[in-house]
Amino acid sequence: MIDPVPLHAGPPGSGVVPLIDRFARSITYLRLSVTDRCDLRCSYCMPERMQFLPRAEVLALEELYTAARAFMARGVRKIRLTGGEPLVRRDMVDLVTALGRHIGTDLDELTMTTNGTRLAEFAEPLAQAGVRRINVSLDTLDRARFAQLARRDMLDAVLAGIAAARDAGIAVKINTVALKGINEHEIADLVAWAHGQGHAMTLIEVMPLGEVEGDRFDHYLPLDGVRRDLEQRWTLVPNAQRSGGPARYVDIAETGGRLGFITPLTGNFCEGCNRVRMTATGQLYMCLGGEGQVDLRAALRGPDPETALNAAFARAMGEKPERHAFAITGPGGAPTLARHMSVTGG
Ligand code: SAM
Ligand code: SF4
Repeated sequence: MIDPVPLHAGPPGSGVVPLIDRFARSITYLRLSVTDRCDLRCSYCMPERMQFLPRAEVLALEELYTAARAFMARGVRKIRLTGGEPLVRRDMVDLVTALGRHIGTDLDELTMTTNGTRLAEFAEPLAQAGVRRINVSLDTLDRARFAQLARRDMLDAVLAGIAAARDAGIAVKINTVALKGINEHEIADLVAWAHGQGHAMTLIEVMPLGEVEGDRFDHYLPLDGVRRDLEQRWTLVPNAQRSGGPARYVDIAETGGRLGFITPLTGNFCEGCNRVRMTATGQLYMCLGGEGQVDLRAALRGPDPETALNAAFARAMGEKPERHAFAITGPGGAPTLARHMSVTGG
């Protein structure tokens, strides 16, 4: 059990200052990876024999909570828990409950990105802790294709988890990675299904993060083409909603649902970036598409965490790049970044 601690803004001279980078972007959104481990092995995300981070380097739940408080004290208002698969981490509900106590005062929103396999068990406690919205990743509704793509036959568990979340009153957004030759001909059906269930949906272009078994270029499917295909079937009405993130949204007149497009490779979305990411080992990444990192674990575990955190955050804000450096170079190209998505949590 984590004892929730009320937040106190830093007294004058404490050095606890809002996170604002050198391009005047305020950082109000933290993606907090709680583990890099996962019960699936989505082929675009990680190899079957994934080399996971050494357990000793992974922060304890109490340390993750302390780190989250440090971010909240510096102006972060939204936290998304992610991974790896956040719900495979033991006692995860304790962390969610402790963070949930800050909703309404220090936090506007606590949310999660999950593969959904364990949601049937955890939807209710998450809702009780104050989680109102979650993203569930789902790339296909075909059981055999799911088993092949995720290398685990767990579609039924995911669908049961999505239903449990809805029953618990949590709004679910479906995240789907568009993959050439894998789910490209199923995307419209997935949209129809999600909207029919009352879920919003976001399509994501595959990003060149970390080595996987196949060549990622084989499956790279630019979303501008997907969008044109969807326009043959439906009326897509652009929606001005922005999240400070990379998604652009449309409303589909016929389904009555919302669809987002995340196009890191074909679209530039960095100018309004409001987010940073912390790995389960306490490495702070200022950009999903950059190598720059600052070690918060050393600060947290050192003799004077407050002073060390102030220095670490100041360095991070000085180093947040203006924009990402992604590119899928072509057939056989090396990943732009060596790090897997499961380390920083997307
Ligand atoms: N395990 C959870 C899940 O799957 O939702 C959370 C972590 S997962 C790394 C977060 C999101 O990243 C998922 O929607 C997944 O599909 C996406 N993802 C993973 N690797 C990716 C890649 N190389 N390119 C684009 N999206 C990726
Ligand atoms: Fe696991 Fe999510 Fe990566 Fe799939 S995308 S292997 S569910 S971390």
